[in-house]
Amino acid sequence: MKRILIVGAGYAGAVHARLLADAGYKVHVIDKRPHIAGNAYDRVDENGVRLHVYGPHLFHSKNKNVIGWIKQFGDFVPYTHKVRALLPDGQEVPLPINLDTVNAVFGTSFETAEEVQAHLRKVSLPIAEPANAAEYLYANIGKDLTDLFFRPYTKKMWGFDLEDMEAAVVKRIPLRFDRTDTYFADDEIQMMPRDGYVAVFEALFAHPGITVSLNTAFSKDMLADYDFCFNSMPIDEYFGAALGELPYRSLRFHHRTVEGVPEQDWSVTNFTDTGKFTRETAWHVLPHHLVEDTGRHTRTKEEPCDYRDNNMERYYPVKTADGRYVALYEKYKVLAASEPKMQFIGRCGTYQYLDMDQVINQSLISAEKWLAAQKATA
Ligand code: UDP
Repeated sequence: MKRILIVGAGYAGAVHARLLADAGYKVHVIDKRPHIAGNAYDRVDENGVRLHVYGPHLFHSKNKNVIGWIKQFGDFVPYTHKVRALLPDGQEVPLPINLDTVNAVFGTSFETAEEVQAHLRKVSLPIAEPANAAEYLYANIGKDLTDLFFRPYTKKMWGFDLEDMEAAVVKRIPLRFDRTDTYFADDEIQMMPRDGYVAVFEALFAHPGITVSLNTAFSKDMLADYDFCFNSMPIDEYFGAALGELPYRSLRFHHRTVEGVPEQDWSVTNFTDTGKFTRETAWHVLPHHLVEDTGRHTRTKEEPCDYRDNNMERYYPVKTADGRYVALYEKYKVLAASEPKMQFIGRCGTYQYLDMDQVINQSLISAEKWLAAQKATA
């Protein structure tokens, strides 16, 4: 029986652990934090509200295989995520930009998607091959909307200008021309775990072949006790940052208690100003997040910062337009290839800006591939 070490009890580690345990392996999962679920960790606070300790995690996916797989480990309820952007004049308008957003900003009274598209074509700049996030936005929505909704937010979020960021970062936000006011792409399935993410991770780890040790940091001398290691720790940290550090953005959270539990149909408000906060989440709007009615609710603002200014808490890999950090990651990947009994996994192990469904997908493929290779050599 092969013994497997898995570093990290977030999605990447949990999916690998479960697939390997189901295949008969003995799996030991360690995490340096005092809890499972990685950055999806949630808890109920003193206002009776479930909050996601490392920022809002909204499950959305086009991948039916991933949806079907994760649903084995908990009850999920449908949820359609909506976001509004707070303008300097106090208006709260739909985000992604849609017909109503365009009318609010330009004082127009368009009624159809065609009119909105015609207007955006008029204000867009002729950039055939956008080389960065600014050029992509200028080519699609023009300068005014870009500079209002994306320029200050991106600067706060990444510490870089739109010109310095890879277009893929802002392409996460769909372009809309009609009145649709939901956040994610129209063809995505959206849902939230009814009892929170921790309950899903408890179910993932509930297997006689899996042991989980919390408050346990990885050290290389552990490897002698195992036949293989799936490692979701930051790949540069594993190699002692020998080639330089891979940067991450981190977030500081500012919670506030508000009297009353108002009904509203959007849970997140994005700030277009140049202050330090990017957005605020009203947790009670998410389904089953008002766990106990205390007559109060909690709102949490996010203040992005460099991960070195937040106890090395890594949240977002930094994707610049020139690809310099991805190039550095590629060098670590070459080093990692010389570790025959280890594979790096997850957001920090593979330095990718992955959503929850993408980590699950990547991990299902990786674990299945590894299991198939073991069978082939057995
Ligand atoms: N973005 C922006 N303004 C907004 C929302 C997003 O400029 O109001 C840009 C910003 O660069 C951000 C990226 O689009 O990092 C992706 O946004 P998303 O909401 O997907 O980020 P996440 O939820 O992963 O933090």
